[in-house]
Amino acid sequence: MERYQHYINGQWTDPASGEWFLSENPYTGEPWAEIARGSAADVDKAVTAAKAAFEGEWGEMKPTQRGKILVKLAELIERDAARLGEIEVRDNGKLLAEMAGQTKYVAEWYRYYGGLADKVEGSVIPTDKPGIFNFTRYEPYGVVGLITPWNSPLLLVGYKLAPALAAGNTVVIKPSEFTSASTLEFMKLISEAGFPEGVVNVVTGYGAEAGGPLVDHPDVMKIGFTGSDVSGQKIYEAAARKIIPVTLELGGKSPNIVFEDADIEAAVMGAVSGIFAATGQTCIAGSRLLVQRSIQEKFTARLLEVAKEAKIGDPMSSDTNIGPVTTPPQFKKVMDYIDIAKQEGAHCILGGKPYTGPGSAGSQFVEPTIFTGVTNDMRIAQEEVFGPVLSIIPFDTEEEAIAIGNDVVFGLAAGVWTSNIGRALRMSEKLRAGTVWVNTYRAVSFTSPFGGYKRSGEGRENGQEAIKAFLQVKSVWIAQETSTANPFIMR
Ligand code: NAD
Repeated sequence: MERYQHYINGQWTDPASGEWFLSENPYTGEPWAEIARGSAADVDKAVTAAKAAFEGEWGEMKPTQRGKILVKLAELIERDAARLGEIEVRDNGKLLAEMAGQTKYVAEWYRYYGGLADKVEGSVIPTDKPGIFNFTRYEPYGVVGLITPWNSPLLLVGYKLAPALAAGNTVVIKPSEFTSASTLEFMKLISEAGFPEGVVNVVTGYGAEAGGPLVDHPDVMKIGFTGSDVSGQKIYEAAARKIIPVTLELGGKSPNIVFEDADIEAAVMGAVSGIFAATGQTCIAGSRLLVQRSIQEKFTARLLEVAKEAKIGDPMSSDTNIGPVTTPPQFKKVMDYIDIAKQEGAHCILGGKPYTGPGSAGSQFVEPTIFTGVTNDMRIAQEEVFGPVLSIIPFDTEEEAIAIGNDVVFGLAAGVWTSNIGRALRMSEKLRAGTVWVNTYRAVSFTSPFGGYKRSGEGRENGQEAIKAFLQVKSVWIAQETSTANPFIMR
């Protein structure tokens, strides 16, 4: 059994409480690591270290040098991607086939923001005030708190940590209590890359015990959060009490919309990718499949054929398509929603049960599940399941597809499948979502802004603008000559 301590001020540190909790391998159900149970005392220690680093060497360092350390980190991630990917699979049950590539891809965030570190420029403002020179500077907030969920831990740390560090902040990370190990293993690379002590710290533990105190700490000046809308709301409220900014990446109930003029085979693959990849445990899951009524029968038949072929089993095997549900509470939640859908009158045409067949190892698998007869007002169409459960909803016209697509509280992503360019443009304009994919699904990159409309979040990650989310702007006025003008009148 591995034992993981907090990472504070460059040191592996026991929890103040002396308590540990277990992290389980979702495939075997066996505990494999002990994780430090963090509390307000550990958070305070980490924030104090981060504040000292910000006021010390890191705060003095030029952006170019910060960038070089981030690029070095990118190289180390590439070197260790296979090892880190395996830890993620052991801890969250996602497929090695996906995580090996994804972990390597995480390096690109550090390379991209490392390159951007010395390219954020203020401006000289052509002000209307005679005799005063005015310019702007972008400055880091200081200590920022980053809180991440259990799906894709290292990728989602990268979304936040790379721009936060490039901007010159210091950081305390609170990873999910279900998948802390890869973030802690990653700290070995932080140390090797040459970040000064205290620049990056990790405190593990439960949301209320460690995450809450991090948000509430008086020296934490900004929060970057990915997780559920319920936790996001609590964090937003706590941040409002301190009047600090937040970036919130929350849940979704994304429509994946197939028109009769689409390439049907490509759209079927897009529908499968949208809901069954990563066992449906992605914020961008295309969990509502809107299919034009004229092709519904043909499309559903082909979708069933492909979905039935998906191989369920050991996430470490290269030919597995669907791994286990990551946590016991999530497994219960998915099964509860399947029951709710049945009670609401939806027709289950595939799955709908725990999978107990070959390769299941007695662990928490849910069969790929498809419901027809779903109307958009049902809970199965409105609430985030975060599992391999698809609702098929028919529509007749483009206007109807837009109305149904937008009729949820979320607005994270949407997919559109059509061969009509005019329709593609109209749909991408009318869908109220932070990302719209046309004839593709699940494409994300460090280069392109990502985030939610409506209840799916606040602010954007990725792309050039995201570094500004970790910077505040200062306006500097310098008088070119001294003045004795009337002091009681504004200049
Ligand atoms: P969660 O909200 O339960 O937990 C996320 C993190 O917040 C964990 O580290 C948890 O310990 C912490 N936390 C919980 N309550 C807290 C509190 N009161 N104060 C401070 N921290 C607290 O989410 P989860 O179950 O880990 O992740 C799944 C959710 O994440 C889904 O809703 C999914 O859609 C969302 N998600 C969103 C994105 C995105 O980019 N929009 C990406 C991945 C996942």
